[in-house]
Amino acid sequence: MKDTIKNIKMLLPYFKGDKSKIIIILLINLITTVISVLVPILNAQLIVNLTSNLMEQLILIAIVLFVIKTCSDILLYISNRLYIKLFFNVSLKLRKDVGREVLKLNNKILDENGSGAFIQRLLNDTSTISRVFEEVSSYLRGILINVGVFISIFIISKVILIFVAVVIIIRFIIEKIRLSIKKKKQKEIKEVSDKVTGFAGEMVRGAKDIRMLNAEGSFLKAFTDKFIKLSDLNINTSIINYTLILARWILNELSTLGLIVILSLLIMNNQLEVAFALVIFNYRGYWNGFVDNITFMLDSITDFNIASSRVFEIINGDKFEKESFGNVHLNSVNGDFEFKNVSFSYKKKKVLKDLSFKVNANETVAFVGKSGAGKTTIFSLLCKMYDNYKGEITIDGNDIKTLDKDSIRGNITIVSQDPYIFNMSIKDNLKLVCENLTNKQMKEACKMACLDEFIESLPDKYDTIVGEGGVTLSGGQKQRLAIARAFVQKTEIILFDEATSALDNETQKSIAKAINNLQQDYTILIIAHRLSTIKNADRILFIDDGKVVAEGSHKYLLNNCKEYKALYDAEIEK
Ligand code: ADP
Repeated sequence: MKDTIKNIKMLLPYFKGDKSKIIIILLINLITTVISVLVPILNAQLIVNLTSNLMEQLILIAIVLFVIKTCSDILLYISNRLYIKLFFNVSLKLRKDVGREVLKLNNKILDENGSGAFIQRLLNDTSTISRVFEEVSSYLRGILINVGVFISIFIISKVILIFVAVVIIIRFIIEKIRLSIKKKKQKEIKEVSDKVTGFAGEMVRGAKDIRMLNAEGSFLKAFTDKFIKLSDLNINTSIINYTLILARWILNELSTLGLIVILSLLIMNNQLEVAFALVIFNYRGYWNGFVDNITFMLDSITDFNIASSRVFEIINGDKFEKESFGNVHLNSVNGDFEFKNVSFSYKKKKVLKDLSFKVNANETVAFVGKSGAGKTTIFSLLCKMYDNYKGEITIDGNDIKTLDKDSIRGNITIVSQDPYIFNMSIKDNLKLVCENLTNKQMKEACKMACLDEFIESLPDKYDTIVGEGGVTLSGGQKQRLAIARAFVQKTEIILFDEATSALDNETQKSIAKAINNLQQDYTILIIAHRLSTIKNADRILFIDDGKVVAEGSHKYLLNNCKEYKALYDAEIEK
């Protein structure tokens, strides 16, 4: 109960703006409930009149019943129409909030949890929450209808009301056991189901690679194993559920038998007329419905509580840590920054070890070193993708932990080796980073990235949809589109992380020229394997095992750094 109240409180703001709809729905529910309470009482009267041969009264009641039931049907239709709008409004608001908060999640959390946990919460749990309002109100109406039945039974026979009360209490005990098992199992099922969703997403996204690796068999086995675990959990829970449902059915049959015996005894002792016995016998479905409605309502509330806690864990950040930023805002930056004794580990693996270096505004600095040395991690920390590092990172002398998001991300562009291109048109991919991008600016950026010619050769040109993850583009085209995106963004600091690795020499040279043209005006950092592409950098930092082991110009390093020379010689030999 405490959980439900807490969750409802958190949900209330999502109903803001829909107050009039809620009031109308509540009013309709109230009216239809009153009508529903009257219906069994009138039905009872109908049977009594029928068995007593009171035809005129019987027709009158039948007409009244028809009118009020039709009114109630029309009102329910109006309520359903309003409700469906309310449902989608609330789902939309919730999904928007969850989506926004997922984008704020700390990278460490995303690395650790995978996508499934968030997809399920974003789609399924939000819909469960929005549905609860309709479900509970319909069950509540069902419960109140039974009040009419109980009033009628009370008027006809108190003995039978006591019998009904006993049956209801036993059924409640059965349902309570069922619900507490469900609550316990449901959380576990959801967690496994998150993993299955994440894995299924990976399987579909990676289908091409799976086929190419000829690994369909092993992948399907891994997929099936995960499903078997989920199925086993579901089967176990369902079997317990069905066993308790069987107990409920047997209790129903027993209660019907008991009712027949009691009614017969009452009739034989002249304590009950046959007509009233018939009425009560007809009511037996109603009191079972009473318990069903209560348990279904409790089921809905249990689902609501589980879904709410999962959704608000993201929105409120109770379980999943969000990125946090300071509140110092820089309107513009010069572009110099510094790493001061920075140490950083992913989980337990220490990647950067007391790393210190400084980059001046408008300098072009290249980072070289073996794969796994920690170069990309330096870029990630500079963009504040992780903040659990020791030491200090500054931009224009400001600790990035004190800066707001725009001051960091709004001033740094990163072009990675395997950039993510979204399933939208080329134009929209570019507009993502600059809403007011003109066609001229777009073309210029693509020309600089040596991509314009290719785009113009496509039937839909800049309106070509590139598929999920840019699947219709080659690796090199994706890289060039990401470079064009960076040229559109033109932030003060631009980071190229193996950004031209998939390009042929000719294209790479053209892009290097375009990047060279940006030099002197922007702070540019480049990670490159091909040392020929970074010869013109103002400075080269040689990174090994999370530390700067040498720095200087290309010439200086060739003469003074063995490791650098070895790398260069190896490249020339190729
Ligand atoms: P480089 O760019 O020099 O090749 P990285 O900075 O990408 O190196 O990686 C440094 C080390 O950190 C590698 O050993 C890599 O396995 C590890 N690493 C990189 N990203 C993650 C991550 N998200 N989680 C755990 N370990 C990671």
